[in-house]
Amino acid sequence: MKFVDEATITVQAGHGGRGCVSFRREKFIPKGGPDGGDGGKGADIVLKADTRCRTLYQFRFKRQFKAPNGQPGQGSQRTGKNGEDVVICIPPGTIVRNAESGEVLYDLLAPGEMVVLAKGGRGGRGNLRFKSATHRTPRFAQPGEPGEAFRLQLELKLLADIGLVGLPNAGKSTLISRISSAHPKIGAYPFTTLTPELGVVQTQWAEPFVVADIPGLIEGAHQGSGLGVQFLRHIERTRVLVHLMDAAAIDPALPLKDFDTIQNELAGYNPDLAEKPQILVLTKMDLPGAAVSADAFVAAAAQLNLETLRISAHTGEGIDALLSRMVALLAEADTGS
Ligand code: GDP
Ligand code: MG
Repeated sequence: MKFVDEATITVQAGHGGRGCVSFRREKFIPKGGPDGGDGGKGADIVLKADTRCRTLYQFRFKRQFKAPNGQPGQGSQRTGKNGEDVVICIPPGTIVRNAESGEVLYDLLAPGEMVVLAKGGRGGRGNLRFKSATHRTPRFAQPGEPGEAFRLQLELKLLADIGLVGLPNAGKSTLISRISSAHPKIGAYPFTTLTPELGVVQTQWAEPFVVADIPGLIEGAHQGSGLGVQFLRHIERTRVLVHLMDAAAIDPALPLKDFDTIQNELAGYNPDLAEKPQILVLTKMDLPGAAVSADAFVAAAAQLNLETLRISAHTGEGIDALLSRMVALLAEADTGS
């Protein structure tokens, strides 16, 4: 299954500073020699794979990167200052292509890996460097070299960080559309009626993360009937599960029934799945009757030491609390604690 996050960016490395034409002028030294310094080097544009970055979401806001030019050289043999390199962080696993030719330049950068995307131009040499026995007063210097410039296409095969599970109608799609601001392209999928939905969730506390709604989970998914098993394979790679339950649909006499159904489905496919960190969420709390059923569920879940949140995607109730729980569990999963 291919979830693709893409961005096209332009990068312009800094130009080298020009070399300086200058002659020494001091009192009592009527004919000073050349003393024009070299221009500084233009800054590079560097790409760094950083695990704290999970998506290409940032490039929706900034697509053009320009590194500073080197400063021109100056008299008294002073070299111009080099430009300071610009570092662009991307998620590990990003493929970088030349946007014009489609050629793959870098593939699957590993965490911490850095590559120079566009080299800054060399500074031009000042006239001091052109002095020779035969040429004592060179009145010229070199211009700086231009910095490299490219249009690049970035592509990331996304793995969802968080999987939403739950019975059909639990409110998964509605929640995704409420909390996410970008919907990455989903690669051609052989089934047209049911496709996973993905959203990039941006919070104030952490790097954006990816939430996937895994539809069609039920209906004997783990036995391979229907589509569920395809999606289950994808959930295997998520680090946190959010289990949504329509509160109003819970029977207060049998509050854990729907919860058990999904748990069994997950465990039947892969026992590890049922062991993933999970957030239980009662949805549609704005509906009449939801509170009574929710209380029954929370009481039953508490017996099992399970913590439950209540939300309404319609009114926004509990959404911030859910997001901050997601961020916290992802951070725990990242540090392996
Ligand atoms: P999914 O099958 O789990 O993706 O569920 P959907 O997101 O499609 O939601 C199923 C139905 O529940 C839709 O008619 C939604 O409008 C409705 N729904 C979802 N969230 C809420 C909510 O917070 N409050 C209310 N009243 N209805 C909701
Ligand atoms: Mg849905």
